[in-house]
Amino acid sequence: MSKQFRFFEQVNRSFDRAAALTKHDPRMLAQIRECNAVYHFTFPVKRDDGSIEVVHGWRAEHSHHKLPTKGGIRYSYMVSEDEVKALAALMTYKCAIVDAPFGGAKGGIKITRHEYSNGELERITRRYTYELKKKNFIGPGVDVPAPDYGTGAQEMAWMADTYQSLSAGELNALACVTGKPIAQGGIRGREQATGRGVYFGIRELCNDAEVMKRLGLEQGIAGKRVVVQGLGNVGFYVSKYMQEAGAVLVGLAEYEGAIGNPDGLDLDSVVKHRKDSGSILNFPGATDLETSSKALELDCDILVPAALENQVTRDNAPDVKAKIIAEAANGPTTAGADEILSEKGALVLPDTYLNAGGVTVSYFEWVKNLSHVRFGRMQKRFEEGAFHRIVGAMESHTGRLLPLEERAELTRGASEEDLVNSGLEETMALAYQTVRTTQNSYDGKANLRAAAFITAINKIALCYEDLGFFP
Ligand code: GLU
Repeated sequence: MSKQFRFFEQVNRSFDRAAALTKHDPRMLAQIRECNAVYHFTFPVKRDDGSIEVVHGWRAEHSHHKLPTKGGIRYSYMVSEDEVKALAALMTYKCAIVDAPFGGAKGGIKITRHEYSNGELERITRRYTYELKKKNFIGPGVDVPAPDYGTGAQEMAWMADTYQSLSAGELNALACVTGKPIAQGGIRGREQATGRGVYFGIRELCNDAEVMKRLGLEQGIAGKRVVVQGLGNVGFYVSKYMQEAGAVLVGLAEYEGAIGNPDGLDLDSVVKHRKDSGSILNFPGATDLETSSKALELDCDILVPAALENQVTRDNAPDVKAKIIAEAANGPTTAGADEILSEKGALVLPDTYLNAGGVTVSYFEWVKNLSHVRFGRMQKRFEEGAFHRIVGAMESHTGRLLPLEERAELTRGASEEDLVNSGLEETMALAYQTVRTTQNSYDGKANLRAAAFITAINKIALCYEDLGFFP
């Protein structure tokens, strides 16, 4: 059986396990798990050397229970119909868990990104957007792409510009895509959002006394030994926030290999070393591991797969030593590996919850674009004035003036980035509690992945029930 079939099936196996614990109508469950629409198309691209190449693109819209649909666009040679369907399904559940009011979608272009010049990538991205627009697979109220593996703010700017040029006079056109540069309607904090959200999720777990006791670990992040696989956008920011919170990075992996050091690796020095030498290997003081996947077996407390799907499998799960597997990537643990890990007493903090910070802040960006005003613009000065009045009143009551620096800190009004980060922190903390409450109501029958799926299924089911479907 090819891998093509497997990823969407993996997601559905997890869905089915969770769904079996619910009392929902099987017809409704079947509707929820199906992928509603997939569009596969090809188009020619002129390479810089004058040759013409045929490029394959996809967009899958998994669920229309809420609109628009939402999810990233991936540039990778691994992209396939199965992959975009599976990732679109994960987006549906992810959005439901964090109350981002979207159905799930995902798209991709089958190219090896680094083999294309900037000009070629621009032509590919613009043509891809044009093809989506032609078939109504993009739009502020229809389907809203975002960055994913192999794409970033630059591609989103090209997409927004192409869409705008095709929709003259459409007031909300910029909301057709999120993860844009700030000057093109992006939002501060979006770039860091997925990694920051993963950090908040791990922090919630590490502060959960009951769970940490069961795992035989101390509460809190400080001192935890962490391995991160993948130093792309997500892996880099998770590593950064974990290190800042006092965790020790004992292993880091990239596609060319991995390095380990039980005494800890300094993230910025590793990133600089990789930039200068072209490889993560041969970092001073660290041991080289010949493959990226070897890092998954390093001795640590928390393993963070932050690269691609299908990393922890039946084959290597028995060798995983971490007590916590924090899924920053989408689908890094197969359903078979899940069973082995749970038999070993390890805990998987599932992707559908843990990496939802990206789409959460995408939601804030979309709202910003629709409201045409930066968050904080209306209230920042008013807040500062109110804080000054309070501090002034305190000073006159106590007869003591605060040092200027302290006064400035106390009276600071919230900027857009403050509000985004606070909204993200609240979202991740609340979703953790919701998933845990669901888990507790199943008397040990549901692990966190099942509880996250059940949370999502219940919320999506409400939409259908409110419409009177499946009475
Ligand atoms: N690609 C990201 C994800 O997998 C973000 C999606 C979005 O912001 O729409 O969650």
